[in-house]
Amino acid sequence: MSQARDTQASERAAMEIRLHGRGGQGGVTCAKLLAAVYARLGKAVQTFGDYAGERSGAPIRAYTRVSDSPISNRNKLYQPDHLVVLDPTLLGPEVVSGLAEGGTLLLNTPLSPEAMAAQFGRFRLATVDATAIARKHGIGTRSVVIVNTTLAGAFARALDLPLEVLEAAYRELGFESNVPAAREAYSALRVREAPAGGGRLPRPAVLPGLPAVLPLSEHKEGPPTGLKTGSWRTQAPFYLRNPAPCSVRCPAGNDVVGFVQALARSGEAAAAEVLGRTTPLSAVCGRVCPAPCMEGCNRRELDGAVNVRGLERWIAERVPVAVRAAPAHPSPRRIAIVGGGPAGLSAAYVLATAGHRPIIFEAERELGGVLRTGIPTYRLSRAALDGEIDSILRLGVEVRSGQKVDRARIPELARAHDALLIATGLQRLRRVDGPGEALSGVEQGIHFLRRINLGEKARLSGAVVVLGGGNTAMDCARSALRAGAAKVTVVYRRTRAEMPAIAEEIDQAVEEGVELVFLRQPLGFAGAGKLEAVELAEVELGPPDASGRRRPVTTDRKTSLGCDLALLALGQSADASLLPAGWKLEAGRAHADGRPLNVFAAGDFSTGEGTVAHAIGDGRRAAQRALAALGLEAEVWAPPDAPKAVRPQDVRMGHFEGRPPAHEPTAPAAERVHNFEEVGRGLRDGAEARRCFSCGDCTSCDTCLVYCPEGIIRRKGTAYEVDLAFCKGCGICVAECPRKAMEMRAS
Ligand code: FAD
Repeated sequence: MSQARDTQASERAAMEIRLHGRGGQGGVTCAKLLAAVYARLGKAVQTFGDYAGERSGAPIRAYTRVSDSPISNRNKLYQPDHLVVLDPTLLGPEVVSGLAEGGTLLLNTPLSPEAMAAQFGRFRLATVDATAIARKHGIGTRSVVIVNTTLAGAFARALDLPLEVLEAAYRELGFESNVPAAREAYSALRVREAPAGGGRLPRPAVLPGLPAVLPLSEHKEGPPTGLKTGSWRTQAPFYLRNPAPCSVRCPAGNDVVGFVQALARSGEAAAAEVLGRTTPLSAVCGRVCPAPCMEGCNRRELDGAVNVRGLERWIAERVPVAVRAAPAHPSPRRIAIVGGGPAGLSAAYVLATAGHRPIIFEAERELGGVLRTGIPTYRLSRAALDGEIDSILRLGVEVRSGQKVDRARIPELARAHDALLIATGLQRLRRVDGPGEALSGVEQGIHFLRRINLGEKARLSGAVVVLGGGNTAMDCARSALRAGAAKVTVVYRRTRAEMPAIAEEIDQAVEEGVELVFLRQPLGFAGAGKLEAVELAEVELGPPDASGRRRPVTTDRKTSLGCDLALLALGQSADASLLPAGWKLEAGRAHADGRPLNVFAAGDFSTGEGTVAHAIGDGRRAAQRALAALGLEAEVWAPPDAPKAVRPQDVRMGHFEGRPPAHEPTAPAAERVHNFEEVGRGLRDGAEARRCFSCGDCTSCDTCLVYCPEGIIRRKGTAYEVDLAFCKGCGICVAECPRKAMEMRAS
């Protein structure tokens, strides 16, 4: 015990103030205000409250330590130099316990110090009717008067603190309107000095009968205190990983918060390692993903979503993500994949990294699917695409390119391999089904894009009309401008709000000079031998349809738009005729005669979701399902349905400093329409990662430790340990956790 007493003496701050009040009076804020004043005077300070889930009116305590050097003792304060009592009805021997004789006792009471002297005359008595003053200044309500700021004014006078410093602290903390009440209390304070000759009496080293107060660092090694207050607890804090909304929304199944935090804390290599667990195509997604993760980002509520897409590109440009060493499998399986788009590539990646032998059969000369034939180079550089495909192939993936697999060959491939995946995308194109569709000058947008993307020098002139509102429409319009069209108009049957294209693509198309015409439905095409105009009907929006968007209702009003080329971007669907007769897809697996085959559909062909990230996630799933069907892998990833994802209201925004998101610089619109070079230039650095709240994922920020009123949370490496022998289960650590990485559980 003597060692503990010595430690306690050496851990004392130069000045310690204890406040007693009732919940709702603002005692904790009062302690904070005093700390703020001393901090402005250049002192080290510490302040905290001591209460649990009490209702308003219950007794609470708050503490402020002041020192010339950093304060490491986080214990409660048992022997204060000064005591502030916000509610005189609390006064009694327990409240003044530990206050050294001659110490200042500041009371909120209409009574004079002399009137209190009979009971408390051994202290330096200071009284002020803070309730009356605060009520007069309208602080709080008629029934609950908030006296904290008024009493802090009186405290300044009692301790001879400069009033202007107090006022500056009020301004800083948003209490400027309370300054007049503080000033009045400052003037109205009455003081009775301690008895002549008494002065400040030395404090006893340790109050007799009370357990020693240990600094936090001593808790483990020091002798146990007698009072194990942990037995009062009904709940205890637990550290856990709650799902982050960004990760939950990623259709590829990426651990988004994981890779962003890895970048923030450990750099690009660590972040690439996290990404590589789920995707081989980060340089691609870092450019073209619509980024549902950013839509879900809780930081949107503060100052803008974290630029996750930009960070993914930043990482992949520095460290390839698809580099996981492929372990040799004792009995590697041969699995055929028809289609080398993102779904087929993702499936091949999963299989190769599990030590199996994937073989991709691809109709085109090169792999990539829509990433190569559909998405233009000004959005996705072929160097980035080729780099990632090379990394995947180096893992041991075989490729048979230029082989269009037909319906007759599908069963052959299934027989010749342990399993077969079909990832052929959306090959069926929607048409207008109106007169004039066969005219020269009417072309499917996807064919036009393929010609341009595979290097055919398409030179355009005159006016181009693009029909549709999705990514294909935007890519056609912007490619047509680059190919020399004098004027490009996109015609869409709903309004801009309903356009399925990525919002940034629409913005960039408009910046480049593409015109948007809404609420028009194509009826057909007019021209003598060659296209001259698109015939359109005006549309009105009716009630929402199955997609949740308002249904376009065609009217009798017709218009026509003159043009030299019309590009159809009206949607695509899977070509189910690729499946042999008698085969049926049930939940993505082929069945014949009611029996499941080891044949699985993947990507757009299976889901029709229409994004690269979905194709990556579904490709992975299909590969895992195939392995599971072969008795090789138990775990099959499923897109999460996570109602437990951390919500904006779960994040303590006040813990984070505001900083707007980093945007990717882009080439100027006037320049970029003359070439097919990449428009987005990538983030300048990876500092954006530090804006991530790390929702649901502990960052070892020490907030729990700092706020624990018992001082019983300790760091253990990057984790924490709660000394449950002393945890009363107040829940303050959980309430203060900025990112919902803790919860209270019954204990
Ligand atoms: P695909 O990419 O279509 O790949 C299928 C592959 O199978 C192709 O290589 C094809 O040649 C091959 N194949 C087909 N039939 C056969 C056969 N019989 N035998 C052998 N091989 C065959 N998504 C985004 O997330 N962001 C975007 O910015 C974006 N922009 C887009 C722009 C356009 C113009 C288009 C059309 C789509 C866009 N998408 C975008 C959607 C996205 O590209 C697709 O959802 C994704 O490519 C689907 O991947 P997949 O592997 O399932 O199919």
